[in-house]
Amino acid sequence: MTEGAVALVECPDCGVGRVAATEVTLRGCVGRDAWEYRARCPWCRTRFVAPTTASAAHAALGAGARLEYWELPAELAERPAGGPRLTLDDVERTARLLADDAALHAALRGLAPH
Ligand SMILES: [Zn+2]
Repeated sequence: MTEGAVALVECPDCGVGRVAATEVTLRGCVGRDAWEYRARCPWCRTRFVAPTTASAAHAALGAGARLEYWELPAELAERPAGGPRLTLDDVERTARLLADDAALHAALRGLAPH
């Protein structure tokens, strides 16, 4: 992901772009060996979250990216038995939707009764 002080980021709409590593926030999930990053696309200016590898995350941190940790919501353990379990993919998809207004509105339109 890094190239000196420049980070390569991948916008879900525009593809790969370059941003200053200091404009990237690495997100480490407590209790999981999973990394993602938050960045703003240099082309469409949309903020997004995307997965990355531990080695790329560590390289980005060495190049000046910020770091934050997050935890899976405690509610995951409180879900009543019988219903479908909320998966990490559900949480990550929701986080991505919350970072992208257009995608969120499109997803909500898909849920609206016809
Ligand atoms: Zn973009």
